[in-house]
This record gives sequence, C-alpha cells and structure tokens, in this order.
Amino acid sequence: MGISTKWDTLIVGAGAAGLQCGVTLAEAGQKVLILEARNRAGGRIHTFIDKHTGYTLDAGAEFIHGQLPHTFEWVKKLRLPVSAVTGKNIRLLSDVSTTPPAQEAAWKKFHEILSRLRQDTTLDSFLHTYFPEESYSDFRREVLRFAMGYDAADPTRVSMLALRDEWEREEGPNYRIDKAPHLQASGYGAMIDGMIGRFQQAGGKWLVAHTVRLISLSTPAFVQVKAHFRQKILTYTADRVVITLPPGIFQKYGPKSISIEPGAKSIIQVMQRLGYGTATKIITLWKHPWWRSRFGPDMGFLISQAPVPTWWTAYPNDWPILTGWKGGPHPLGNSTPVIQKDTVIQSLVQVSGIPAKILQKEMLKCFIFDWYLDPFACGSYSYPVLGFQTLIQQLQAFFPQRLYFAGEAYHNRPPWGTVESALCSGQEVAEAILELHGLHKI
Ligand SMILES: Cc1cc2nc3c(=O)[nH]c(=O)nc-3n(C[C@H](O)[C@H](O)[C@H](O)COP(=O)(O)OP(=O)(O)OC[C@H]3O[C@@H](n4cnc5c(N)ncnc54)[C@H](O)[C@@H]3O)c2cc1C
Repeated sequence: MGISTKWDTLIVGAGAAGLQCGVTLAEAGQKVLILEARNRAGGRIHTFIDKHTGYTLDAGAEFIHGQLPHTFEWVKKLRLPVSAVTGKNIRLLSDVSTTPPAQEAAWKKFHEILSRLRQDTTLDSFLHTYFPEESYSDFRREVLRFAMGYDAADPTRVSMLALRDEWEREEGPNYRIDKAPHLQASGYGAMIDGMIGRFQQAGGKWLVAHTVRLISLSTPAFVQVKAHFRQKILTYTADRVVITLPPGIFQKYGPKSISIEPGAKSIIQVMQRLGYGTATKIITLWKHPWWRSRFGPDMGFLISQAPVPTWWTAYPNDWPILTGWKGGPHPLGNSTPVIQKDTVIQSLVQVSGIPAKILQKEMLKCFIFDWYLDPFACGSYSYPVLGFQTLIQQLQAFFPQRLYFAGEAYHNRPPWGTVESALCSGQEVAEAILELHGLHKI
C-alpha cells in the first residue's frame, strides 16, 4: 500500500492509545496509517537499554497499577515477564510529628467523609472544609503530597469524586501509596514492540519523524492531514482521523501546536481546561547498591522531603539502580529543567547522610527525564478536574465530523493517567469508529 493511498483511518501518534486503536481497526480490515513525530513508537512509554550495563530502563511508564484488564491482555498475549514489587517502604518525613494512631484515625475520617460525598469539590476545599483544625496540619500535608506527587494533580483543580473512584478501585477506602500494590514489568517497551508487530501483521502502516501540523475537515468527503517530514510538508488523506496528542501540547503551544480547520479554537479551549501534570524521573546507576546497608536489603520505596522526594530500588531484582521521582502540577511557562544532577546528589545526601563526594564517586550514571520539556509530551499524565466529564463530551462531539480523540487524558474512568487508560481509550475509539461507520467485520 503506497502512502499516496486514501486511508480509512489516519492516527496521529504511536503511543499506547494510537497503537491500540490501530491494531483493533487494522484487525477489523481497515486501511490504517499512523503518523508519529518521534523517531520511535511508545510516546510516554520509553524503554531503553543502558549500553554499558545492559539494564533495561524505563524513562516513562514503569508500573502496572493493579489488575488492569487491557494491560494484562497484552501481557498475556505477548508473554511478558511481570514481577511484584514487594520491597519495604521507608518514610523519612520530619514534618510529620503526629503519632501513627492519630494519622490512622485521620485517614479513617477522611475515607468516611469521602464515601458520603455527593457534591463534587476540589481536594483543596475538601481539606479546608473537613480538616481545617491545626491538629490536622500534618495530615493535610500528607494528602497533598500524595495527590501532587502520585497523581501529578493541582489540589485546587482535581475532582474529589473522581479521586475517590480511583482510590476505592485501587485498594478500597484504605488506599495509601505506601500500601499500594505495584507490579513491575521488565520494560513496557516490549509491549509497544508487540503492538507494532500485531499492527503490521494486520496490514497497518506507520511512519516516524512525521510531525502533524494541520488537519483539515473542510472537505466533507475526506480529511486532509499535513505533516512535516525532514524539510518537506507531506499531505495524506483519510476518511477520518484520530488525534492522540497529550493535552499538554495544546496547553503549552496553544494554536501553534496543531492547526485543526475548522474547530481549533473550541478544541484548544477544552484542552487547556483539562488537568495535566508533570514529572521528572531520574534513573541513577551505581557501582554498589549502597542503600542496602543504610535502609536494609529489601528496601522498596523511600519517601522524603528532599528536592527529589521519592526513590525506589529495583527490588526484588538486585540491580544497583535507584530511581527518583518528582511529580506535580504543570509549571506554567517554565522552560528550564527543574532538577539538575546537583539536585539529585543533594537529595541523596539528605536522605542517606552520605557525603556528596562519596556518592559522586559511587555513581556510574544519572539519566534525568524532565517530561515537561519533552516537546511531544509537555508533561507526564492527566488528572480529572472538576467538570472533566463535560470536557470529554465536548471532544466526543467531534466524532461525527470524522475527528476522534484517543489517549489517557480523554478517558472518562479510572485509573487516571495510566497506560491502561490509554489502551482503554484507544480500544473504545476504535469500537466507536467501527460502530458509527457500520464497519464491523461480518
Ligand atoms: C515519567 C512517567 C511515568 C509514568 N509512569 C507510569 C506508570 O508507572 N504506569 C502507568 O500505567 N502509566 C505511567 N505513566 C503514564 C503513561 O505513560 C501514559 O498515560 C501513557 O503512556 C499515555 O499514552 P497515550 O497514547 O495516551 O499518549 P502518548 O504516549 O503521549 O502518545 C502520543 C503520541 O503522539 C505523538 N505526537 C505528539 N505530537 C505529535 C504530532 N504533532 N504529530 C505526530 N505525532 C505526535 C507523541 O510523540 C506520542 O508518541 C507515566 C508517564 C510518565 C511521563
């Protein structure tokens, strides 16, 4: 099939959502073309192998947060190795002086009130309404730390009802990050490779280094898509187009992100109102796993107040790798890296008490991935804001005009901001296309 062909469906972006959508449509007999801006597939899944040590490392998604159907369908189909993260959690929080029973009691009250909540509100106002007393200041800090660090959410915007759905789903009303079950796959990239294989087997075609700049819906018979490839502008036509760009791109670049004719203005307005956070992930490789003698041989997660607050080991694997994490809401307008190598060392000095000079000598490598600075992600993942269901419906209103949106940020159910939500959204959009255009295989 030549690229001058008219395609049934053109998908913008070869991340988890675009590939899931592509596989389902191609397997249903559709002619599908995926255009990807990067030189690789996977998007916010980015697995690479360190040349010197041979370790498989994930710069983006790494964990499978629970028993997630779409993810495990691929794990099973592709026979991917999955292992449970069972290490010990360590908390180094000098700003928490409340006793463990008092913290437990506060969490109990929190979940009781949350389970009865009917009128949606933000996390910030929820805490101010139900936990205003000084005696809850540690507790408020703890909840905010979790929502900002884990969900990358802005507490003044995130929907409490949506958070409740997620927290209840993951571990019932007692859900806490330090108790959450995590499964660690050995490289999400294997899933992406498997999806590409299935897509191509079904006749799908994908092209890298194609940055889509314009989508024209003005001709009723087809959609026209213009993409930059090297110094050229190439034009593709299709019956319909699926956009999988993260909302952060629209939030950061506004009308310059991608031109959609007609409809750009209202689409950008919706995108700018969706919740989308960011994260810096730091992968450090060491001569020896020095943390074992400091925190025990079975250390899993460590939570601290250092500039890079969260760290985890590769436990139960004994690889000398320590991964750091700093998540949070979008740093609007910021274009310089939040975390530099000095900050990484300084954070590890703070948590370990080991002098910087020794740590510097022990460290083999330090990879810093600031996802806000990535031009094709502009952040890490989404969180549900107050009224997000209406925003998603506004995007779905474009479906009959042959313009579809798939991706973790456009999925209307928990788990929010995950590979699972991207896969689920990609699958649902493919089914909507097949349904709306009467394309189901007989
Ligand atoms: C640091 C980090 C850690 C994470 N950890 C986890 C985790 O442990 N578990 C989990 O489940 N999830 C995790 N996530 C979230 C998960 O990675 C995402 O939710 C998921 O991969 C999103 O998939 P997607 O297809 O919706 O979007 P993307 O993967 O962003 O795909 C969109 C694609 O569109 C491409 N694109 C952008 N602009 C253009 C253009 N103009 N033209 C053509 N192509 C374009 C992009 O290059 C990209 O390939 C993490 C994310 C990050 C950043």
